[in-house]
Amino acid sequence: LFLVYQPQFNLSTGMICGAESLIRWNHPTLGSIPPSQFISIIEKRGLIIKLGNWIMDQACKQIIQWQSQSFKLNRLAVNLSALQLRNDKTFQALIDIINENNVDAKYIEFELTESLLIKLSPEVQALIEQTSKQGIHYAIDDFGTGYSSLSYLKRIKANKLKIDQEFIQDMLNEPSDMEIVKATIALAHSLGMAIIAEGVETQAQLTRLKELGCDAAQGYFFSRPVAPEEFLEKFRNWQSDCHTQ
Ligand code: C2E
Ligand code: CA
Ligand code: CA
Repeated sequence: LFLVYQPQFNLSTGMICGAESLIRWNHPTLGSIPPSQFISIIEKRGLIIKLGNWIMDQACKQIIQWQSQSFKLNRLAVNLSALQLRNDKTFQALIDIINENNVDAKYIEFELTESLLIKLSPEVQALIEQTSKQGIHYAIDDFGTGYSSLSYLKRIKANKLKIDQEFIQDMLNEPSDMEIVKATIALAHSLGMAIIAEGVETQAQLTRLKELGCDAAQGYFFSRPVAPEEFLEKFRNWQSDCHTQ
């Protein structure tokens, strides 16, 4: 198991504004297995807390390593499973790992899905609020694909919405996808959140997203998720920007 990293770009400055960490499994006989195939099995087997803690530790160590190589990434996003936020103990374990690695909270962003957010206990909600004040950012992943109830947006003060790639991929051919993208950008901004598009694959999508006022983007058009050494080599000279995210 190892992590790969996909850069995120600020669309008004063109600067790199963060990265998302994504897990990969290189199986000795089956080859490369995508997370969509093994995360759910790991969840069912009760191993996701252990794996999630390991991912958090790896992500922290990567931030430190890049910093020691004079590369200061503004923020590294880590995907969380619903079970990791099931109670305050499993969530606190993640915060402890950040602290044990001496990583400043401002470098961390947690990506949470809508399905996870509707089930939050008051204790976990309080912990999100507390860590948010300490500098951790929260992004809502796959926005628009989970639940139609938007009431969780009132309970959680997220910093960012991620427009799901499903909408981005068809926005130039399907008028309804375009309208959803526009409405999501307007919703995020009116609630004081930044908005990032994922799965951007073409110049045409990027141009349209810029015109629509989308703040940031990631996708194969910029870069596939890559190993840390390649990330450093490719992106260390792109200027960093900390203002939008
Ligand atoms: P996600 O969080 O929505 O991640 C985005 C997925 O889109 C990633 O797939 C990424 O490689 C892919 N992607 C990025 N740019 C493009 C693009 O331009 N076009 C297309 N078609 N795809 C693009 P990946 O890495 O296979 O991950 C799939 C899912 O597995 C993730 O979806 C996330 O839900 C889960 N996952 C990945 N890493 C982790 C992790 O560390 N922890 C947890 N709990 N889940 C993870
Ligand atoms: Ca994600
Ligand atoms: Ca996503």
